[in-house]
Amino acid sequence: MTEPGSSRLLGKPYVREAELWGPLSDRPEFVRCNLCARRCVIAPGKYGVCGVRKNIDGKLYTLVYGLLTAMNIDPIEKKPMFHFEPGSQVLSISTVGCSFYCMFCQNWEISQSRLEQGLYGRYVPPEEVVEKALEYGADGIAYTYNEPTIFFEYMRDVARLAKKHGLYNMMVTNGYATPEAIRELAPYIDAATVDFKGGGNPEFYRKFMAVPDPSPIYTAMEEMKRAGWFIEVTNLVVPKYGDHENDVRRLARWIVEKLGPETPFHLLRFHPDFRLQNLPPTPVETLEKLAEAAKEEGLQYVYIGNVWGHPLENTYCPRCGYTVIERRGFTILAWRLTKDNRCQNCGTKINIRGRFHGSGGGILPLLVY
Ligand code: SF4
Repeated sequence: MTEPGSSRLLGKPYVREAELWGPLSDRPEFVRCNLCARRCVIAPGKYGVCGVRKNIDGKLYTLVYGLLTAMNIDPIEKKPMFHFEPGSQVLSISTVGCSFYCMFCQNWEISQSRLEQGLYGRYVPPEEVVEKALEYGADGIAYTYNEPTIFFEYMRDVARLAKKHGLYNMMVTNGYATPEAIRELAPYIDAATVDFKGGGNPEFYRKFMAVPDPSPIYTAMEEMKRAGWFIEVTNLVVPKYGDHENDVRRLARWIVEKLGPETPFHLLRFHPDFRLQNLPPTPVETLEKLAEAAKEEGLQYVYIGNVWGHPLENTYCPRCGYTVIERRGFTILAWRLTKDNRCQNCGTKINIRGRFHGSGGGILPLLVY
């Protein structure tokens, strides 16, 4: 018999039978979710770790199909994503829930709300998302703010429809999706920002994020590359616990070897938030030292994020050092590339996918030299 709480859920438009799951062969009333690398085994009436997938009568359901908590227009630079469709505008959407428990999450009200406040949001069918994107003149859709893997079915449906209307799709992700989830999304997603924290240090992931093993993130990134997605990588530098140079060097070396030295890499400044309010913001000198280390390992485009006005908000030609793209925050101040994205000074090809759309979403005027 369906338990009372569950029967209330069935019939809601945002509660749908999930995909990428199966019953356990020896206990068919238990299900295994194969959406993210946690591969939760879920007993009847219980939820997965993300809090938004539930076993109801031996079937797995998503509880957040189209249950949106945010819908905003952002410049793509805010994701951050600097080398894909630069200066374009994205319609950003999110639900509640996350597959990680980051103690420093800046979006914890939505990512961790399953623990604190329960499910909430407004049901928005895929057609309405695409309509809104077109109405507001967005160039693409970003699945962001919370971990989009956990609303996989909805993301896939929105992305498929968006593609038909000429919009691109990008996700900002912790990289914990399984290869099979990525393969399902592959035809519709164009780009991903993959967020590391603490240099990918396994102990840091265990202690501050309740993630037993970060290694599936590397498998996922290789799958994304195989799928042809444009990838940018970020690393949140948490002072004292997640700022070790060796970790950043190891991560940078892996990116150079597996994704290529032209992969943009962003070192993000930590600001105290959620359950980690006792630490100071990351010293800028720490970020600069790590940026230098990442460059020494061979990465050609290294950025410092969350430090307004820092010179490493700009893109420099990896060959001659010329400032080819000048930025302030999320705004492009100057674009000094040829039409085929070569350095205007020395002709070196810069790794840009898509076209330059203008200044981005900031308030400063565009100056194209
Ligand atoms: S998405 Fe990940 S965390 Fe959520 S139920 Fe599936 S395997 Fe578990």
